[in-house]
Amino acid sequence: MNRFYQISLVLTGLCLVANPLFAQRTLLHCGSLLDGTRSDLQREMTVVVEGNKITAIQKGYSRPAGSDQVIDLKNKTVLPGLIDMHVHIESETRRGGSYDRFTNNVPDIAFQAAQIAKTTLLAGFTTVRDLGGTGVNIALRNAINRGLVDGPRIFTAGKSIATTGGHADPTNGYRKDLMGDPGPNEGVINGPEDARKAVRQRYKDGSDVIKITATGGVLSMAKDGSGPQFTEEEVRAVVEAAKDYGFTVAAHAHGAEGMKRAIRAGVTTIEHGTLMDDEAIALFKKHGTYYVPTIIAGRTAADSARIFGYYPPMVAAKAIAIGPKIQDTFAKAYKAGVKIAFGTDAGVFIHGNNAKEFEYMVEAGMPPAEAIKSATVTNAELLGMKDQIGTIETGKLADIIAVDQNPLQNIKTLQTVRFVMKDGKVYKQ
Ligand SMILES: [Zn+2]
Repeated sequence: MNRFYQISLVLTGLCLVANPLFAQRTLLHCGSLLDGTRSDLQREMTVVVEGNKITAIQKGYSRPAGSDQVIDLKNKTVLPGLIDMHVHIESETRRGGSYDRFTNNVPDIAFQAAQIAKTTLLAGFTTVRDLGGTGVNIALRNAINRGLVDGPRIFTAGKSIATTGGHADPTNGYRKDLMGDPGPNEGVINGPEDARKAVRQRYKDGSDVIKITATGGVLSMAKDGSGPQFTEEEVRAVVEAAKDYGFTVAAHAHGAEGMKRAIRAGVTTIEHGTLMDDEAIALFKKHGTYYVPTIIAGRTAADSARIFGYYPPMVAAKAIAIGPKIQDTFAKAYKAGVKIAFGTDAGVFIHGNNAKEFEYMVEAGMPPAEAIKSATVTNAELLGMKDQIGTIETGKLADIIAVDQNPLQNIKTLQTVRFVMKDGKVYKQ
């Protein structure tokens, strides 16, 4: 080691101890920057990252000083890390996958979930909201936060809340002697008292958000895919209890009646919204409820049933009837001025393809800039994180991605993310 290097190492060490301002900086030289605060691209910009934060944004390619590290993204478009409001990080569709719950033990689910988490992060999704699994999703969030596993920042519902026989009753389709009678602890409620207990149990388990299945669903082993499955009184009890713990409530809903009950009772987001009618649209607007479309899940479920034969006949029939409708519903809701929050239902399709949703949103009439905003600014706000994520601004967490082309001109470029930084750490370059 030469003397100059020794001295500079010592000095650097002293500076690090004495003054955090001299911590190592990373300069991202960005050919184009879509920072999320404005609708146009800025050319030749430098984003300065120190620790896990963005500390400066400068015009031109700033020259490195001292121990600064430079990352060359001069032929890329740089934008904020993407946020998906609806994933299932524990599971992934496949032929015969309906039977996994009879064969998988918790550790099997955990190892798969860890791999899915990494895939999701490398696809450019630096934050996700997990809307239901077994509870492995809570342990996974903790492991990611501790740096044990690579994955996105997770806000998780833990186990979804359903009614008996409803979408997310974990014993649907079981042999009778194996079914038992799951209660609020397992996320199955009947009546407002149960509803409150189920929410409090989610709090105790460590969930971040509450998920209910307000109507039937496609992939559950049950006949009905769209009828209401909660009374309005039950949803109201969920929402009231959730408020006490600072939880928002996400409601899965395909049919209009269950959707309306959920909106009137005060849920924050409606997931899928497939059979939304004009009255439901008016309620969305009146209550300021967000719509999370999951177009890709609808399309994939229908294809998986029709072309690939993934599901048992009862599930396949629902997937074919309900799946393809979501894109038209999205077009109608967007045109009517319903607030849109980007979400995909990843797991119903292969994880890592989340960004395909952008293409479907644009195909249905939403301008690319708005589609990107729904997955950044809007979702950051919904998660109560708007001061920390969703845009590239000084003082925010360094969640930054880069793609080859200008996504405002070619939205498909978001499907091939080349660079991923989360919390100031580079995961893909
Ligand atoms: Zn879902």
